[in-house]
Formats: sequence, structure tokens, C-alpha cells
Amino acid sequence: MVTAKAWALKKHFEGLPKTSDFELKTIELPKLKDGELLLQSVFLSVDPYMRPYSRRDMKEGDIMIGTQVARVVESKNPAFTVGAFVLADRGWRTHFISDGKGLYFLPSPWPESLPRSLALGTVGMPGLTAYFGLLEVCKVKPGETVLVTAAAGAVGSVVGQIAKIAGCKVVGCAGSDAKVAYLKKIGFDEAFNYKTVASLDEALRKASPDGYDCFFDNVGGEFSSIAVNHMKKYGRIAVCGAISQYNTTVLQKGPYIQPPMIFKELRMEGFIVSRWNDRREEGLKALMKWIMEGKVKYHEQVTEGFANMPAAFIGMLQGENLGKAVVKV
Ligand code: NDP
Repeated sequence: MVTAKAWALKKHFEGLPKTSDFELKTIELPKLKDGELLLQSVFLSVDPYMRPYSRRDMKEGDIMIGTQVARVVESKNPAFTVGAFVLADRGWRTHFISDGKGLYFLPSPWPESLPRSLALGTVGMPGLTAYFGLLEVCKVKPGETVLVTAAAGAVGSVVGQIAKIAGCKVVGCAGSDAKVAYLKKIGFDEAFNYKTVASLDEALRKASPDGYDCFFDNVGGEFSSIAVNHMKKYGRIAVCGAISQYNTTVLQKGPYIQPPMIFKELRMEGFIVSRWNDRREEGLKALMKWIMEGKVKYHEQVTEGFANMPAAFIGMLQGENLGKAVVKV
């Protein structure tokens, strides 16, 4: 008999999530039936989407949503051998039983030099978000200037590096001087700390006096309203995330973006990465190749211990992570 631990949503979040909003549960798992396998989570992801989606898709008492890299520890399913690593979508649990449906094998062969946690980050959903958002929504061209927000995070850091591969000038903003230094280290042409600059308007102008062809927006809110005014004519804005608004409890008001949208003839498009599920393999292959060639660098913020899942999640929402926030069980 295996006893799994799992984190449940005890109380819907109001504002920034609190550790008291979560409850640790234990679940006795039954014996495997034919066709089933027992998996153990090795790395779990904490992602911004969990904040808005918990309200949309979950009720109090449900196990927190999320993905993991898991190892097969017992198998009565011939398609999965013991010791194999898969990507699963089974929420914040240490162990779970599966019939094999909805599991993805990690890209194979997985290079020995890379941590398997990258399947939750640069070679996973956030990397794919950067890849398709930049190449298919922004449709960047060589010589263009790209602006990226939450640039030192899981998605943003990959966006900037792919934009460099595509021959663009890249400007990134992030919430600490250490993050700004990291962005310069991985090849961003310009970077600034949006929390400490005297004027966002002035910082955006200084970083690219001619304006921006593309804006990969991870943050939304006030910053985006200001950035829209710095777009070049016919600029493209990929609306990827709005993390500045996920924890707000009061309705925010303008400034409104219609005038620059009209007079600069901009195109703004929201997207969800699953739109390109049928091209997942292509994206993962490209990301893995760039990592192995040293063209895309990665950093992970690894929190040790399943007990610290809520703290890792809350910390990520507050900007404590550099690169992808993951939990090592
Ligand atoms: P990150 O690794 O970037 O972590 C979140 C970061 O957001 C924090 O580190 C923090 O960095 C920044 N942040 C938090 N609050 C604010 C704020 N009020 N203003 C500005 N920045 C803030 O997360 P991901 O890379 O996983 O996700 C980035 C964005 O992309 C999110 O909005 C997410 O919802 C979205 N996303 C969308 C997908 C899609 O399919 N559309 C798929 C995946 C992600 P800092 O220190 O710089 O403030």
C-alpha cells in the first residue's frame, strides 16, 4: 500500500495566496489493476496560471492543478517500464496511479547533462509558449526590436533568447537588479528594473528610442498601457499573460489603449500555448537543439521538498524566482 501526499485548495485565494489557503492531505492508493501504473513525482511545477485557473476550474477541497515529471515505480501496463520518466498533469501529488492516458514520455534520448526538470520549463510548456508566441503571434523578423516583460522568468527568458537567435534587438524588464544582470548575461541588449526606474516611459524610450516592433507581454496592467505608446507603426503585441492582475481584488481602470492601437495601426493578439499542441514535437526539438548548442541558456529556481509547494508558488507570484520555479520532491 502506498500513501500519497497531496496539496488541496482549502480556501479560494483572495488577493495573494496564503499558506493557510492550502491543506496537506494523505491518500491511500489501491493496488494496481491490469493496464495501470504507479508513478512518483520527481519535480513539480508552480506556474502563474494556477492562480486564475484555480478560481475558474476548481472548488475548495480539490487537489491543486499542475504538471509533474514523474517516474514509473510499478507497472502493469506494457507501454510503460519501471524507471521511465514521463510528463503528467496530475496536480500537486507525490504519487498517483494512471492508466497511461495523457502521459507524455520526455523527449528521447534525454541528454545526461540536463536536469529532467527542464521538461517543466525551457523544454516544456513555458518554452513552447515563448517559441509559438514569438514566432507565430509576433512573427518576428531579423532586425526588429522586441520588448519582453517578466523577462527573467520561465517564458520571458526564452522569448528574449529566441528573439536573439531570430536576429532581433531585445529589451527586457524584470523586478530586481540581479535579474537585470542575468538578462544582460544571457544576451539581452537592454534590460531595466521596472520597480526602480524613475519613469517607465523614459526607461522604455531610452532602451529603444525608435520604439518597438514586437511586444511579448507577460504582465499586463499599467506597464502594458505605457508600453503600447512606444510601439512602432504596424507593431505586433502578443498578449501572453497578465500576472500584474492575477492577485488584484479591485477593478483597475485605464489608461486606455485604443488611441495608440488606432493611430499606430497595431495588432494585439491573446493566445494560449495549447493552440499549437499539434506542433509540440517541433517546438520541443528546436528548444532542445538550441540548449545543446548553447544558444538558449536556462536557470531554474529549485525549491526542495514537497512540503514547500505552497511557499514556492507564493514566492513565484512575488518574483522570488529567476528562471523557472520548480519543486524537487
Ligand atoms: P515567471 O517565471 O515569469 O514567474 C512570474 C514572474 O512574474 C515573477 O518572477 C515576477 O518577476 C513577475 N511578476 C509578478 N508580479 C508582477 C507584477 N505585478 N508586475 C510585473 N511582473 C510581475 O512565470 P512564467 O514565465 O511561467 O509566466 C509568465 C507569464 O506568462 C504569466 O503571466 C503567465 O500567466 C503567462 N503564461 C501564459 C501562457 C499562455 O499560454 N498564454 C503559458 C505560460 C505562461 P519580476 O521579479 O520580474 O517581477
